[in-house]
Amino acid sequence: MSYHSISSGDKCLELFGKVERSKDYMINLACSLIKIPTINPPGLNYEEFVENAQTRLEELGLKTQVIKVPCDFPDRYILLGRTEKGKSLIHFHCHYDVVPSGDEWGFDPFTPIIRDGKIFGRGSSDMKGGIASVFLALKVLLELGIEENVSISLTPDEETGGQTGAKYLVENRLVKTEMAVMPEPSGIYNIWNSSKAALWLKVAVCGRQSHSALQSNILNAFEGMLKVALEFMNVKEEINKRDLGSIRGPEAILINLGGICSSGSAVNVVPGNATFTVDIRSMTEEGIEAVELEIQNRIRKLKEKDPKLKVYIKKLLKAHAFTVREEHPLCKLLEHCIKETMGMKPKFTTCPGFLDARFFNKAGIPCIAYGPGLLEASHSSNEFVIIEHLVTAAKVYALMVTHLANSKCRKKHVLHQIS
Ligand SMILES: [Zn+2]
Repeated sequence: MSYHSISSGDKCLELFGKVERSKDYMINLACSLIKIPTINPPGLNYEEFVENAQTRLEELGLKTQVIKVPCDFPDRYILLGRTEKGKSLIHFHCHYDVVPSGDEWGFDPFTPIIRDGKIFGRGSSDMKGGIASVFLALKVLLELGIEENVSISLTPDEETGGQTGAKYLVENRLVKTEMAVMPEPSGIYNIWNSSKAALWLKVAVCGRQSHSALQSNILNAFEGMLKVALEFMNVKEEINKRDLGSIRGPEAILINLGGICSSGSAVNVVPGNATFTVDIRSMTEEGIEAVELEIQNRIRKLKEKDPKLKVYIKKLLKAHAFTVREEHPLCKLLEHCIKETMGMKPKFTTCPGFLDARFFNKAGIPCIAYGPGLLEASHSSNEFVIIEHLVTAAKVYALMVTHLANSKCRKKHVLHQIS
């Protein structure tokens, strides 16, 4: 790589030293953000979170704006922060919602605990820890007088598809930037430069509710649902057989059945309705479409055999895949900064989940994910983030901005410098 390492030497040490010395600021911030239970679904305490984060950004010296997303209750807010007006060199896109805590926690998920160099609490890895790293990077940059145009967004609803968060933000052109990074829990040794396509379905089978003693000729919706679910299982089995030994691993199509299911209302009532969800993941949209088509064919045949069967399929979410090439200047810049911070090259991998980054890429803004959290810890009980990883991520983010700022000063765009 021919790269003028403008932040190396003394400047780099100064930057890293400042990040290290402000570690407590970041730990306190991460804990205070975790304490606000922004649980989604349904989308709780968003206003309180945004007010808190807005105050913190303004304390750092950023100009802020809160946008209320037009949608049903509960209210949704997007927080924007920037150092200057106009198009930013780099944008940090964060989501502030967290998944419900679930059970099996050894402590209150919203009262963070610091132990063994880790912060424990819901959202610590995904992604309030990452938000704190970005805030620390901004704090240090502003203290060093590096005030190039940098922006940040904090949006809700990523955990339920991002329609009323990142999608609204991007489609309404509320962010103007050259490139974007998401501090999602990729781990500090890894860059997510691509993510899978996803399709979420809700399958409903309708019968007629009646007394369980009088069920002669009516369809039991639960029994109908089992027949339909069996067809999904058959498709899944066929895919598994086909993929075995060839495209197993991140490339494989994954189908999760029954994430949520429901049926009937009482033991002595024939269920009139039964539903189950399906989650399909694939590297390509074509992979998802092939599964959809196969399912439609099978259900059609099922209905031909049993005309009483009423099946309705509702699309809950459709997320397209994206890839930012490893040779892309944004990937090169991030790779370079990680190497400069940690002395080792990161890996480029595909995020197994879907990312808000897809909305940016679709709109022509290159966006990848790199953050301090761990995917294994995310969404699980006793979620945690390693404090040293928060520090490392903050250094990497600050270094990215420094490189971009320096290259702008020299009137040569960084994108042409990295090769
Ligand atoms: Zn996340």
